[in-house]
Amino acid sequence: LSQVALVRTGAGLRERSVPVPPRGVPSVKILRAGVCGTDLQILRGDRPGGAAILGHEGVGELDGEPGRLVVFNPVDAADPERVLGHSYDGIFRSRFPLRGDGDPELVPARPGLPPDLCTLGEPVAAGLYGWDLAGLPAGARVGVWGAGPIGLLHVKLALDRGMEPWLIGSRRSRLEWARSRLFGAGVGYATAAPGSVPELDAAFLCTDRAGAERALGEAAATLREDAVAVLVSAVPDGLRSSAFPAVDLNGVRRRNVNGETGGGHVEALSGEGRRVRLVGHRGTSRRQLLRAMDIIDRDRAFFGALTTHVVDPGAAVGLIADRCARRQQDPEGAELVKIVIRFGEPGR
Ligand SMILES: [Zn+2]
Repeated sequence: LSQVALVRTGAGLRERSVPVPPRGVPSVKILRAGVCGTDLQILRGDRPGGAAILGHEGVGELDGEPGRLVVFNPVDAADPERVLGHSYDGIFRSRFPLRGDGDPELVPARPGLPPDLCTLGEPVAAGLYGWDLAGLPAGARVGVWGAGPIGLLHVKLALDRGMEPWLIGSRRSRLEWARSRLFGAGVGYATAAPGSVPELDAAFLCTDRAGAERALGEAAATLREDAVAVLVSAVPDGLRSSAFPAVDLNGVRRRNVNGETGGGHVEALSGEGRRVRLVGHRGTSRRQLLRAMDIIDRDRAFFGALTTHVVDPGAAVGLIADRCARRQQDPEGAELVKIVIRFGEPGR
């Protein structure tokens, strides 16, 4: 008996047949796994990650319990450096073995929520965490930098909270796609912030690493005094931005882990002399995962539209290679936003 796994080979992935976990070793049958920006960063060599099998966003079915679906909580609460699919082998495979010790937390999936959409539970939960930390009142004007899946779901959460969101992305065709397919006229769109974006109460930094420095500079130039900046995406270790010269940005993200908010924020002075509260976190909590799946269930059409590509493992290899090469459209010219890999179906 064998199973399918997407195994790292240099800078890419290859579909391989690997042995199934031996009889008697409990496992989770993976149904769907989402491709995250951090997976791409590891493949590009932009961030460390020793796992041969990537993948941390997803939904599976407990062995021998048809219909009992679970989602994965990837960051180990006791040791936040241990991350499913980054520091140890993840879920880009048809079966994930449970060892009983050091396993990721498994959270029950929302009953009835389609597996494609359960996959978004983890990224939406991480988004909720940032909003929890930011503590913004309704009506706040927020800028979201980065028009990938994470940025787009932050705009959605802003709209749900009655905020006034601006989406800042470098590609016009992605902004046009977001306007026509997701948000319409209720959101401001800009390819660069200063000049076209009004003064902001908060910034959510959701770009990849290559875009982080520019986004920080633009945020610093558009935030008002005493505004909040949420560092959503990971930043390179030791990155000091000229936008906030005195701050260890990754240190900000280390303050809060897996739903805890007591680590608070860092007061920073922007290069322009304005005071800004920087907040960040890693991981997410079980409660945030459950809240996230509620939110997804209430607006299946939106989250379905965000999930542009649900594909089998073989096809995922090609699309992931496209994303590693920073292509933002599939070979047919359609916007390539969230890729979800289909490994199996429930109840079989
Ligand atoms: Zn992720």
